[in-house]
Amino acid sequence: MNEENKLEIRKPESFITAKQSIKLYRQRWRRLKFHVASLDRLTGGGLHSRGIVEIAGDAGSGKTQLALHLALVAQVQPIDDMPRRGVVYIITEHPFPSRRITQMEKAFKKNARILSAPEKFNFTDNIFVEHLHSPTALEQCLSDRLPVLLENNPIELLIIDSVAAVYGDEQNYVDRAQSFRRVVHALHLLQERFDFAVVCTNQVRSVVDEMTLDEERVVPALGLAWASLVHTRIQLSRVIGNHERTCRLLFSPTAPPGQCEFVITEAGISDATEPL
Ligand code: ATP
Ligand code: MG
Repeated sequence: MNEENKLEIRKPESFITAKQSIKLYRQRWRRLKFHVASLDRLTGGGLHSRGIVEIAGDAGSGKTQLALHLALVAQVQPIDDMPRRGVVYIITEHPFPSRRITQMEKAFKKNARILSAPEKFNFTDNIFVEHLHSPTALEQCLSDRLPVLLENNPIELLIIDSVAAVYGDEQNYVDRAQSFRRVVHALHLLQERFDFAVVCTNQVRSVVDEMTLDEERVVPALGLAWASLVHTRIQLSRVIGNHERTCRLLFSPTAPPGQCEFVITEAGISDATEPL
């Protein structure tokens, strides 16, 4: 055995026990809670603060509403002895809905059950918005501007709304798949360094096959190349005729597939059974 191999074997202190890892990585594997009972139950306590979470759904299904809700609740997450952390919101399709978030913030501040922030805290001051529309712009933002922002502003959550819109004009599927991998790799590296959750919204596309004769079936867009990079997939749909939405958990590393209902009201997102 040469000297180099001996050194490799003498490195047991780099391993820790499973029990030690629970304590050591408690912050790293913490959950971003929705503070909506049905959604927290469905996801087994909220979204993971590592890897990529996807929220898919058709137009008007509530993806942006849920993302805005997360941008508010992310700022009241209890983190041991850590200062309140902000949110980065990358918007790619529509203008950022400033009026709507202000409306939701107003109602959110009144909701004493979840609010542990000082009374005068302005949640919208802590949401850093970036509008961009192409894969190149997204990659540049993640490699150049975002690390600079994160150096000075600790964040709890980064949202890309929507990832599908960025790739809408990209016809070359090989280039597109390579860009997905670069984007997700950059996000993983930044998560490792700055410790935050990532939520991407995605559109859906119709599937036409023998199973869809009676019922329209939709699946998240961007194909397998994107799906294989996502660790939690959530799909929203509208309940025709009222303000209820169905939220399906399609896969997650820690919770079984399932579904629940929630509602979107003027105040924001809440449980279907106990609206705000
Ligand atoms: P897209 O794919 O077009 O971006 P989306 O899934 O992001 O769609 P949202 O913008 O999240 O859709 O949801 C829009 C829906 O949210 C509206 O159709 C409406 O039902 C609901 N909504 C938005 N604002 C309010 C409000 N102030 N009060 C009540 N419901 C609202
Ligand atoms: Mg939207």
